[in-house]
Amino acid sequence: MNVMQTRMIEEQLIARGVTNREVIRAFFHVPRHLFVREQDQFYAYDDCPLPIGFQQTISQPYIVALMIEGLKLKPTDRVLEIGTGSGYQTAILAALAKEVFTIERIPQLLEHAKEVLAYTGVKNAIFKLGNGYDGWKDHAPYDAIIVSAATNELPTNLLEELKVGGNMVVPSGGMFTQKLLLIHKGEDDYTQKVLCDCRFVPMIHD
Ligand code: SAH
Repeated sequence: MNVMQTRMIEEQLIARGVTNREVIRAFFHVPRHLFVREQDQFYAYDDCPLPIGFQQTISQPYIVALMIEGLKLKPTDRVLEIGTGSGYQTAILAALAKEVFTIERIPQLLEHAKEVLAYTGVKNAIFKLGNGYDGWKDHAPYDAIIVSAATNELPTNLLEELKVGGNMVVPSGGMFTQKLLLIHKGEDDYTQKVLCDCRFVPMIHD
C-alpha cells in the first residue's frame, strides 16, 4: 500500500460516500499501479480512467467502487464479470467474493490480466476468452453480474443467468450518454435504479 493509494481511497471513495467497509478494505488490498501500463504508473491513482491499449480503458476508481458496492457481495458469492480489461476490477471482486468468472474478448488483454492477477496472488478468478454478451452458462446461475462495457439493449441472456435475489450492474446507452443501472432480480420481475451518469467503452457484439 502506498500514500497515493490511501489518498485515492480517502478522497475519491470515502469522501464521495462509499461506506461499505469490505469494499474499502478490498481497495486497500489491490495495488492499482500494477494494472496500468508502465508509462501510466504515475497516474494510476488519479481520479480518471486510463488507457490500457486496444482502445480500452481501466475504469475510474470511484466507478468501480460504486458498481461493486451496488452488488452487495457476500464472501460465498459467485460473480460473473463481463470485460476483464486490465483485471483491476476482477482483483477487487476476487477479494470480496468466493469466485469471479470473467470474460474478455481481446486475447492480449485477457492474457495480460491473467498474468497480473497471478502475480498479485489472486487464485479465485476463472477466465474465458469470448463474447460476454452470451453469458457463461457452465457456471450459471450467478449471485451477481457486473458488466464493464455499455450496451443499448438490456443483456437478457445475462439476466437469465442471474439468481433470483441477485444484483446486476450494467452501463446502459450509446457512445456518449449512458446511465449506470443497478438491476435487482425478484421472483418474477426486475427493479431498476440509476446509480449515475457514466461513460464506458461500447460492448462489442462479435
Ligand atoms: N473493468 C475493466 C474495464 C475494461 S474496459 C477495467 O477496469 O480494466 C471494458 C472491457 O470490456 C474491454 O477490455 C473490452 O475489450 C471488453 N469487452 C467489450 N465488449 C465485450 C464483450 N462483448 N465480451 C467480453 N468483453 C468485452
